[in-house]
Amino acid sequence: MRHRILPVTHYQQNCSLIWCENTNQAAFIDPGGDVERLLAAVQEEGVELSKIILTHGHLDHVGGTAELVAKLGLPVEGPHKDDSFWLDMLSTQAQMMGFAPVASFTPNRWLNDGDTVTLGDQTLAVYHCPGHTPGHVVLHHKATKKAFVGDVLFKGSIGRTDFPRGDYEQLVTAIRSKLWPLGDDVTFVPGHGPTSTFGEERASNPFVSDKRLKQ
Ligand SMILES: [Zn+2]
Ligand SMILES: [Zn+2]
Repeated sequence: MRHRILPVTHYQQNCSLIWCENTNQAAFIDPGGDVERLLAAVQEEGVELSKIILTHGHLDHVGGTAELVAKLGLPVEGPHKDDSFWLDMLSTQAQMMGFAPVASFTPNRWLNDGDTVTLGDQTLAVYHCPGHTPGHVVLHHKATKKAFVGDVLFKGSIGRTDFPRGDYEQLVTAIRSKLWPLGDDVTFVPGHGPTSTFGEERASNPFVSDKRLKQ
């Protein structure tokens, strides 16, 4: 599986274009906006888009979904159904965040902890990691030791928990119990900013380092 990071919107949200090099099947994880640019990347890579995967219901992560579905009829997988209230509020989110109005949509498949998402010959494992939003999911590709973690974890930080139904303790517990066991050598693509590894964050992240969590 290969991937390319495409920062979108003025929030510089990291949309990932991922694809299976055996079958050329591709997916967007969190197509937050700038759809023309996203589709140009698909052309450049010469891959075949077959689905959209969403980590959570925040507009900067899902804002391009309805447009892509209208254009290409792609199925949408994720997030967990506990984020349905965020998807129902997309027009409110657009007003609050200064985005152009977007259409609401319902995913074809809600994801649960322990599910898998397939793409060509590749399999991504689903981990439900609530705290930033209640229905946030993380996708892990074991073979290449990569994780797409949305706004759960960042290099040097963690997701905000001051939104409706956010929960700091839940978020820290999810990072510790769901992400750390995947291994220190897993490279993760966060929703914003540079990539890092779980090992680096366990060593130095001021919110969730091993040292901090022992205190
Ligand atoms: Zn978010
Ligand atoms: Zn975000």
